[in-house]
Amino acid sequence: MELKQLLESRGIQPTQQRLKILQYLQRTGSHPTADDIYRDLVKEMPAMSKTTVYNTVHAFLEKGIVTGVMITGTEVRFDAETRTHHHFLCESCGRILDLNVTCPNCAREEIDGHRIKELHGYFRGICASCSGKEKKRSP
Ligand SMILES: [Zn+2]
Ligand SMILES: [Zn+2]
Repeated sequence: MELKQLLESRGIQPTQQRLKILQYLQRTGSHPTADDIYRDLVKEMPAMSKTTVYNTVHAFLEKGIVTGVMITGTEVRFDAETRTHHHFLCESCGRILDLNVTCPNCAREEIDGHRIKELHGYFRGICASCSGKEKKRSP
């Protein structure tokens, strides 16, 4: 779906700045904080304010356009991938990466009579890049 239509369908006026923020979130795989988003986008769009970024990502969160990843316990990291997937937090570089694991609980709709709407799974440790085990891409 076009980003503009996506925002309109969730009742959000698709301003240029909002579109830019959504586009940024869809392109990055690093699960940025609102501050990270602001820091990157203000270079391109000097008129962008921190408040706009905060209000926008929280509106996106409320409307289910993005999900909030709250692994660190001190900040919300934003993710444009809203399908259930697990995360990995690197204690060394602080990046949050998507993990491609199949989890038997992902598809569960009910547990002990409780209806499941969301599942968040995360691992933490040292990422492949920080531990020097990243697969070398062949030249
Ligand atoms: Zn790392
Ligand atoms: Zn993710």
